[in-house]
Amino acid sequence: MDGRRTNWAGNQVFRAAHVHHPTTVAELRGVVAAAPRVRAVGTGHSFSGVVDVPGGALVSVAALPAAIEVDAAARTVSVGAGVRYAELGRALHERGWALPNLGSLPHISVAGSVATGTHGSGDANGCLASPVAAVEMVGPEGDVVVLDRSDGRFAGAVVALGLLGVVTRLVLDVVPAFEVEQRVFTGLPLEALADRFDDVMGAGYSVSLFTTWRAAVIDQVWVKRRVGDGGPDPAAWGARPADRPLHPVPGMPAGSCSPQLGEAGPWFARLPHFRPEFTPSSGAELQSEYLVPRRHAVAALRALAGIRHRVAPVLQVAEVRTVAADGMWLSPAYGRDTVGLHFTWVADAAAVAPVMAAVEERLDGLDARPHWGKLFGVPPARLAELYPRLADFRALAADLDPGGKFGGPFTDRHVFGRAG
Ligand SMILES: Cc1cc2nc3c(=O)[nH]c(=O)nc-3n(C[C@H](O)[C@H](O)[C@H](O)COP(=O)(O)OP(=O)(O)OC[C@H]3O[C@@H](n4cnc5c(N)ncnc54)[C@H](O)[C@@H]3O)c2cc1C
Repeated sequence: MDGRRTNWAGNQVFRAAHVHHPTTVAELRGVVAAAPRVRAVGTGHSFSGVVDVPGGALVSVAALPAAIEVDAAARTVSVGAGVRYAELGRALHERGWALPNLGSLPHISVAGSVATGTHGSGDANGCLASPVAAVEMVGPEGDVVVLDRSDGRFAGAVVALGLLGVVTRLVLDVVPAFEVEQRVFTGLPLEALADRFDDVMGAGYSVSLFTTWRAAVIDQVWVKRRVGDGGPDPAAWGARPADRPLHPVPGMPAGSCSPQLGEAGPWFARLPHFRPEFTPSSGAELQSEYLVPRRHAVAALRALAGIRHRVAPVLQVAEVRTVAADGMWLSPAYGRDTVGLHFTWVADAAAVAPVMAAVEERLDGLDARPHWGKLFGVPPARLAELYPRLADFRALAADLDPGGKFGGPFTDRHVFGRAG
C-alpha cells in the first residue's frame, strides 16, 4: 500500500489511527506488541472492508525484507510477505522455477492473496494458497510463530484473513519453469457451454470465460496452454479464434493484457490476464465473486442468464473460472471442486447493490461462497453454514490470538458472527 488511506478501487476508506511501514521484523514485532488492534494490509486490492481497523494500527508489510530464496532440493521458495507476484514470478523464472498458477493481476501481494483464498483458473489448479508449505507470522505479543504442513493447525492458518497474525514470510512449493501460449476465442453460445462445460473448461491448463451478459453468449474464451500440450479446438463448439489481441472488457485497449494469438512466453507473463509492466494505480470498478461447487456450474450459469437483463446494465464484464478443491478451512474452494463466478461492476455502489442482491438470491440455493476480498451481502449466519470448518477456525483464532487483537469490523461480523 502506498500513502493512500483507501483501497485500490477507492471504495473503502482505511480508518486506522496509525499506519505503520516497518522495515524489519523486529520493528514489526514492536508495533504489534504495542497496539491494541492490528490489521495487516498487502497491496490493498480487496474491495470488501476486510482490511479496515477503525482507530487501530494498520501495518503494511511492503517495506519488510523482500528476499526470495529458492531451495531447489526441497522445491520451495521462501518469500517476503509483501512481495508481489510480478516480482516473484520473474525471480523464480530466472532460476528455472514456477508457481503452478497465478491470478488475473500480477500486482497483488503474495500474503494478501493467500490470506483471502485468491485464485486463478484451471481444473487441476488449486487457489494461490494451495502451494503454501509454511507460514511465518508475528503473533499478538510480538512473538514469531511458524506453522507448516506437519502442524494440525496449518489448514486453518493459511487462508486466515490476517486474523492469526501479521505474516512476514511464506514458503511456497515450486515446479519447474514452463512456457505458456494463450489464445482467445469469441462468441461461444451459452447452450454450447452448458452442453460441454467440462470440455470447454478442460481445453487448456487454465481457461477463463468472459461475458457481458448482454446476450446468452460467452463473448471470449481465454485458453492458456502449456507449450506442447494439445487440446480441443473451441471452434468445434461454435467459438471463433480472435484475429487480434482482446481486452476482456469490450472497447478497452488490449495493450495492458498478456500476449495472445498463441505467442509462447514464460508462465508468469501468460497466466495472469494483465501484463506485469502495466501497473494500474487505481480502478474505476467494483468486484464481487461467488464460488459454487463445480457440479452446480451449469445451473449457476442458467440462473445468472435468467437475470442477465438486470445484470448487464451495471456490469463491465463477468468471468467464469475453475478452481480445484483444497483443505484450507476458510478457502472458498474448501472441500469441493469449484467454479468462480466473478463480476466486474461499474463503479456505482448504489446501482450495483440491488443487482448483487439479486445475484446472491439466485445463487444461494447453489451453496455459493462469496470471495472474502470482494463485495457481498451474504449474511454471517449463512456464511457459517457455507464454511463447515468455521467453528474450528474460531477456536484456532481464540488459541493464537486470545484477545482478538487482529480483528476488525469486517471479520468481527463475517467470521465471528458478532453484531456491530
Ligand atoms: C484488478 C483486480 C484483479 C483481481 N483479480 C483476482 C483474481 O484473479 N482472483 C481472485 O481470486 N481475486 C482477484 N482479486 C482480488 C484480490 O486478489 C484479493 O482481494 C487479494 O486479497 C488482494 O491482495 P492484496 O495484497 O491487495 O490484499 P489486501 O487487500 O491488502 O488484504 C487482503 C487481506 O489479506 C490480509 N493480509 C494482507 N497482507 C497480510 C499479511 N502480511 N499478514 C496477514 N494478513 C495479511 C489483510 O489483512 C486482509 O485481510 C483482484 C482484485 C483486483 C483489484
